[in-house]
Amino acid sequence: MSGQLTQDDVAHFAALLDAREASDRAQAERLTVDIAEVTAAARDIPADDEHDPEGSTATLERAREVALLVSTEKALANIAAARERLQAGTYGRCTSCGNPIPRERLEIRPEAPYCVSCAAKHSS
Ligand SMILES: [Zn+2]
Repeated sequence: MSGQLTQDDVAHFAALLDAREASDRAQAERLTVDIAEVTAAARDIPADDEHDPEGSTATLERAREVALLVSTEKALANIAAARERLQAGTYGRCTSCGNPIPRERLEIRPEAPYCVSCAAKHSS
């Protein structure tokens, strides 16, 4: 893909972004519920029992889910930004260097804001 997106491309990537957003939103909701449950369960563990194996498992599990929730919310923000670029006609170009993002990359990560080399620099 070099240059302008066709109307078909715009519709195609809009559909990919919609699907991506739906699954990320479902995941964020599930994680939010899980984190609330783990937090509530942790409250039942006596505070002076720090070495309780169940307690540390719950803490680890919560930390893992919180980290996943943060990255899911970041993905949702990237999806919203990608949709704006799609409407603005700048979709498919790296937001950092302006070079085209390979189509194969967009098929896998339709919300990707950077080309491969800029993504490595920004480590996202
Ligand atoms: Zn770039």
